[in-house]
Amino acid sequence: MNFGKSILSPSYLRKPDFTSHESPEKVFNFECVNCQNNVKVKFKEIIGAEWSWKSYFDAQTVNEISAFYKMNLVGKTPDGGWTAISKVECKNCKTEYLIYSGVNEASNSFYIITLQGITEILEDESFENRV
Ligand SMILES: [Zn+2]
Repeated sequence: MNFGKSILSPSYLRKPDFTSHESPEKVFNFECVNCQNNVKVKFKEIIGAEWSWKSYFDAQTVNEISAFYKMNLVGKTPDGGWTAISKVECKNCKTEYLIYSGVNEASNSFYIITLQGITEILEDESFENRV
């Protein structure tokens, strides 16, 4: 995976962006680095990714993402949550972003989510050959 510009980088100081006591429709907004369009990250789509994200990528990509965000071996994010990786696309210019978040299940089905990384995914050079 080729990483482009980061809008957000991991930090121990990051405050939670979402708790599941809030509306499940709540989103995190950021500006696309290529077209300044508003891109939305849906928190409800992050919950669950802490268990499943590694199955969405091949082993090499998992290693590249882990190295890029300097993940620890335990799988915990700087905020103490479980690592969740998801993707979101700019609806306007189709730029894809990798979303790195920490998911804490503070009590049964009560989730606290802290965004730790938003990074542009550059198109893979081999992509054109595959189409
Ligand atoms: Zn865009």
